[in-house]
Amino acid sequence: MKVAVIGSGYVGLVVGACLAESGNDVVSGDIDEGKVEGLNQGEVPIYEPGLERLAENNLKAGRLRYTTDVVSAVRLSDIVFIAVGTPPGEDGSADLQHVLAVARTIGEAMNGEKIVITKSTVPVGTAKLVRAEIEAHTDFTVHVCSNPEFLKEGAAVEDFMKPDRVVLGVDSEFAAEVLRDLYAPFVRSGASILLMDVPSAEITKYAANAMLATRISFMNTIARLCEAAGADVSHVRAGVGSDSRIGSSFLYPGIGYGGSCFPKDVKALISTIHENGVDASILEAVERTNDDQKRLLLDRVVARFGEDLRGRSFAVWGLAFKPNTDDMREAPSLVTIEGLLARGARVVAHDPAAMDEARRHLGARITYAATNYETLTGADALVIHTEWQPYRNPDFARIKSALKEPVIFDGRNLWDPEDMAEHGFEYACVGRRSLPPRGEEG
Ligand code: NAD
Repeated sequence: MKVAVIGSGYVGLVVGACLAESGNDVVSGDIDEGKVEGLNQGEVPIYEPGLERLAENNLKAGRLRYTTDVVSAVRLSDIVFIAVGTPPGEDGSADLQHVLAVARTIGEAMNGEKIVITKSTVPVGTAKLVRAEIEAHTDFTVHVCSNPEFLKEGAAVEDFMKPDRVVLGVDSEFAAEVLRDLYAPFVRSGASILLMDVPSAEITKYAANAMLATRISFMNTIARLCEAAGADVSHVRAGVGSDSRIGSSFLYPGIGYGGSCFPKDVKALISTIHENGVDASILEAVERTNDDQKRLLLDRVVARFGEDLRGRSFAVWGLAFKPNTDDMREAPSLVTIEGLLARGARVVAHDPAAMDEARRHLGARITYAATNYETLTGADALVIHTEWQPYRNPDFARIKSALKEPVIFDGRNLWDPEDMAEHGFEYACVGRRSLPPRGEEG
């Protein structure tokens, strides 16, 4: 099939490469000239396991190409995905200017019947606006469908290739048939294609993300209760998660959700709920809880070392909002680091993938270390934001001898408090009791 994917960002790049891999002719359109030029030379601008290889192979095979000429991309295609950003507007609602700009371009470029699909996460009712924008510029028949994307950054290719399910909000039997065929190669292992009306598909994406965010804030509240009451959240999590009605995923307490999706999608859903005259207090609480949780490590450092952190230095492991991505949008690490810098501290940080991103966010205000161990020399404490695999089994003796004091603030529960006390660390994690270092007990 001939497919255009408009917007070559996180989602567009993955969708384009994966659809090309399954034999379609894909044109990926974007208005960012530098990005498109790089992509055509094989430079993938994001870190995503497997994506570079997929893009390279399909570029070479001639099934995938990148262009700034969005009009031609649309004219050459029967199916057009809109995969541009939908950032939060000032009031938290999704800003649809990019989606509607693309819709206008599609309308102007229409040269036959086409299926247009919103892949971007958009509020219920957007497909209607997209249709109106397109139909204002053409008499050709357009099918406007919603196919929200559920990929996770860090496992995006894998998620697209082997989805849990494909949600298709369709406006016609014709569109349903075509999209079912397009997705057939990705659901051979039994995942279902869920066909539904367009508004339901639009709501499904927000509801799924808001449910996941709710689980995170819920567990962070339970973690705080565990700390206050002397319980251990890892036991509670196991006990709760083994209930088959609940399930064990997304029950890990930590320092709050970040990234490009959960924060903005929860905000946008709250806004849509309000617009529809429905009470949104459950999601308002989720958001408030998350804002508090993102301050947890900073609050702990301040409680331990005081408000005045001048002359102190902190080692930071992990900057990305989660492992296997370089994405630092809304990352909890930024809250801690800004707070440390504002109190006069020096910060020396490491991340296996997000160092370039960190430079964009923080510039020369912090020091960047080539390895995680290099952050430690002379630091007053180690602060951990991201559960990267290479951080999990470190040389504790090396950490201890490099730090000025053996103090660790762990926002991701990488280690067992008992073991850490045994290693002689003052160790604060989330929802589990801190034990005094064994050395000090005498
Ligand atoms: P992104 O910011 O990484 O990429 C958006 C791209 O669109 C940019 O390259 C930009 O230059 C391009 N663009 C903007 N206006 C354009 C126009 N008029 N014509 C052509 N290109 C244009 O965004 P993203 O992370 O890929 O997210 C895209 C959408 O997918 C959002 O709605 C997001 O909520 C949703 N989504 C994202 C993820 C994720 O993990 N990132 C997952 C699921 C859904």
